Amino acid sequence: MDVKFNYINGQWVESVSKQTRDIINPATGEIIAQVTDSIKEDAKHAIEAAKASFYETREWRDMSAQDRSDLLYKVCAEIDRQRDKLSRLDTLDSGKPLREAEGDIDDAYHCFQFYAGLIKMPYGGVYDVNDGFGPTHSYTVKEPVGVCAQITPWNYPLLMAVWKIAPALAAGNSIVFKPSEETPLSVIVLFDILDQAGLPKGAANLVLGTGKNVGQYLSSSMDVDMVTFTGSTAVGQEIAKTAACNIKKVGLELGGKSPNIIFADADFEGAVEWAMIGIFFNQGEVCSAGSRIIIEKSLKDKFVKRLAERANNITLGNGLDNPDMGPLISERQMYKVLHYIALGKEEGANLVCGGERYIDGDRAKGFFVKPTIFDDCTSDMSIVKDEIFGPVVTIQTFETEEEAVRLANETRYGLAGAVFTTDGARALRVIKELRAGITWINAYNPTYNEAPWGGYKMSGVGRELGIYGLDEYRETKQININLTPGPVGWYTH
Ligand code: NAP
Ligand code: MG
Repeated sequence: MDVKFNYINGQWVESVSKQTRDIINPATGEIIAQVTDSIKEDAKHAIEAAKASFYETREWRDMSAQDRSDLLYKVCAEIDRQRDKLSRLDTLDSGKPLREAEGDIDDAYHCFQFYAGLIKMPYGGVYDVNDGFGPTHSYTVKEPVGVCAQITPWNYPLLMAVWKIAPALAAGNSIVFKPSEETPLSVIVLFDILDQAGLPKGAANLVLGTGKNVGQYLSSSMDVDMVTFTGSTAVGQEIAKTAACNIKKVGLELGGKSPNIIFADADFEGAVEWAMIGIFFNQGEVCSAGSRIIIEKSLKDKFVKRLAERANNITLGNGLDNPDMGPLISERQMYKVLHYIALGKEEGANLVCGGERYIDGDRAKGFFVKPTIFDDCTSDMSIVKDEIFGPVVTIQTFETEEEAVRLANETRYGLAGAVFTTDGARALRVIKELRAGITWINAYNPTYNEAPWGGYKMSGVGRELGIYGLDEYRETKQININLTPGPVGWYTH
């Protein structure tokens, strides 16, 4: 088996550790690839390359927006051409159903395309300022931040990478990218695409390794100007602390425990299906997952019965066979989810369906957990408070709109949320009260490259996607021009 290497300063290079790491297919437990297992020295080399590219050779940074845009369009065309290969790799690596992986690659393609176009848009502002010192012209320009370290999780291997890489490169930064140790394969292909497209050396660097060895070094380096991270809140807190060493710019896309509020007047079958998409899409390994269903009491029994019927019919299997749900990402994640299921039972929630590993036939080799619904939940239960990141949903009930809002906001997270009702004014009132960054009315989970993505509260800092995503990777410089040079008469002697 070929070992996949790091990409540093335009070269594929082995880690100085000479160690390798096995990449596992979570549907079968089989080793599907081996990658070089990097350590601090590799991260240091990558930072040096990015730094030289940004501050010395400056080829990428100084390239005209049009030329940068042309190169990024080449990259997105190649992502599209290699769609089948990339989606297959994401399925093999993360377990997700192939059609979901194909959707991810299409989103990644459109994300690159969006930023390739956006970089040519006008930007900055012109200000009419106080002319106490004589007429002054004041305006702003946007500039790349510099060396950006980027760290991503395993649930959307290529897509989470592209949400960071496309805007950072569009803005003219040099980057050092670290994917999750679990799912590096599609990102390795992306770096090959960047190389083939002719990206100047050092502008984009890839380091394969763990958060402990590589991620921590990146966020604590004095030579990194910005760190952006998608992952758990606990690691986000570590990164915020270490990034303080040189007051790096920080972008954090963290966990969630998002409410899905359903009123009795909602379209019934629609609400059931969206609730399923909310929690069982991508095996529930979605940061914005609608993991807390908060439902009007009068509808609850009927709704839970129907949801359980449909959840029990979900097919679980190897992602390549396009089941409804694939395995969880790893044995560790499977045991974490099973641990929460045990806690739910212990704390008195009522298990309606699922609640165990799925081990029929070949599935026993993989890390499958059945879609799980817990009824009669309360806000003090661990399964309601903590992000589980698996196919586990809790049910709570309300009788008034105020109670629905109170329950929805009873969380330290604030990533997403939804409301289902046919009463338009009520939908808007409830959404206005939700302390969350991404919300839906009568839908759950769709994501758009054009619209900002990010959380309130402990779900993060900053926004990805849209024009916001580009601005995260730019500094704003104020330029003030005195239009009448000469003494202004401030000092009298
Ligand atoms: P994680 O454990 O926080 O890891 C995320 C990334 O950080 C991985 O690449 C990891 O490396 C690295 N890392 C770990 N410790 C680090 C440290 N001390 N310093 C720097 N980097 C470090 O998260 P995960 O389990 O991969 O992903 C699940 C989490 O991601 C969930 O909480 C989910 O909500 C969140 N998520 C959020 C969004 C969003 O947009 N808000 C989107 C997707 C996922 P290794 O694992 O390779 O060692
Ligand atoms: Mg894997």
